[in-house]
Amino acid sequence: MSRASFVFDAGRCTGCDACRLACTIENRLDPSSSWRQVLTFNGRRHPAAPVFHLSLACNHCASPACLAACPAGAYSSDAATGAVLLDSGRCIGCRYCAWACPYDAPRFEIARGVMTKCTFCAERLREGAAPACSALCPTGALGFARLEERELTRGLTVFPETGLGPSLRIVPVGAGRLMPEGLDASQDAAVTVASTVPRRVTLRHEWTLVSFTFLAALLVAWVGGAVAGAPRPPWALFAAGALAALGVSAAHLGRPERAWRALLHLRASWLSREIAAFLLFAGLTTAWLTMAQPSQALGWLAAALGLATLACADRVYDLALRPAHARPHSAEVVLIGAFLAALIAGNGVIALGVGLARLALYVRRKGGRRRAGEDARPAVSLARAIVGFALPLAAWLLGAQVIAIAGAIAGDLIDRCEFYAELEFESPQRRLELGLACRSPDPHRPSHGGIST
Ligand code: SF4
Repeated sequence: MSRASFVFDAGRCTGCDACRLACTIENRLDPSSSWRQVLTFNGRRHPAAPVFHLSLACNHCASPACLAACPAGAYSSDAATGAVLLDSGRCIGCRYCAWACPYDAPRFEIARGVMTKCTFCAERLREGAAPACSALCPTGALGFARLEERELTRGLTVFPETGLGPSLRIVPVGAGRLMPEGLDASQDAAVTVASTVPRRVTLRHEWTLVSFTFLAALLVAWVGGAVAGAPRPPWALFAAGALAALGVSAAHLGRPERAWRALLHLRASWLSREIAAFLLFAGLTTAWLTMAQPSQALGWLAAALGLATLACADRVYDLALRPAHARPHSAEVVLIGAFLAALIAGNGVIALGVGLARLALYVRRKGGRRRAGEDARPAVSLARAIVGFALPLAAWLLGAQVIAIAGAIAGDLIDRCEFYAELEFESPQRRLELGLACRSPDPHRPSHGGIST
């Protein structure tokens, strides 16, 4: 069955930006926040590589990842036009859809605290017109057509197969245009570029997420340890901790007053499930802690819900790009929760087993980063190993359980912060830069990167 699709001919695009401007005019957007972007391969004109452009907006995928990830049910698919639409009035501003979309389409609008994105000019489509961006492209590089499934682009390097079914056909640059005119094709070397891709997640901006997930792991460990034999936490202290966790998670939202909407997409969104499980965990635990004669079964049920919360939290980060050496990784909150719970419960055997497994995962992750030429932060790793593994072990052997727990918490916090600092997500711009960096030294051989393959 055919569907409405963008058609982009890379060989015709001059990078004039007319499509981007047409988008801002049609949709009354600030020019700095256009829903369409024009990316340039080899923008610094390295003589060993061709220069070409890629005009991209939302691809109105057949199985949109943004729609599945959104916890608030703000996305919908318009059957009449094929457009994937975002209702900003329902958006809570969690930005999770931006992590989910490998094409970097949803944009955060700071002024309103919500996401916005390309609408496919659905109103124009209903009237039989093409989207404004394609209608106003002066070179015919960006077009619009109804295409059959087999005519859509799948699996170019810059546009790897994602399984989402983007409604886009890319016509690659022809072989004759691989080298820019007037430049010496014989000079070459490995093309190296300093990355200009802005990170979607940084530790500084996402401290609220770090705080929520870590606080949740601490609370779950506390409850798990108590169910397994340690003294029960005072209910008021636990409730204050749970409220603080919910508070920082709401502070992450662009529209915190709509936080309740995060529960509206349990069917598909791991973020929705994480919040729902945490609320159940917090409510049940508070009930358990206020019982004069506590029910052991209720305690175990609360602890199980806590573990479910942490498992959902880990799944939320499945959207990040993670090489094999970071799957699974030592900073998964499920592992943090299990490790701390065993220490709190005084179960040295389980604590040692989980601790050693996490140490092995940590060493593997750091070794993988070093081999990949990424910053492995050896000084931080050393601090993490001493504070989070060696100190707890020594303190445990000397019978100082409190110091062992404090050291483990400090080490786990370092590990979790490192995990956030290493988070990376897919984007076409990143793909273009990777393609340039990996480009074959032989200019006549097909490049590994970009849309010239
Ligand atoms: Fe969603 Fe991104 Fe696909 Fe558009 S391109 S439908 S925002 S996943």
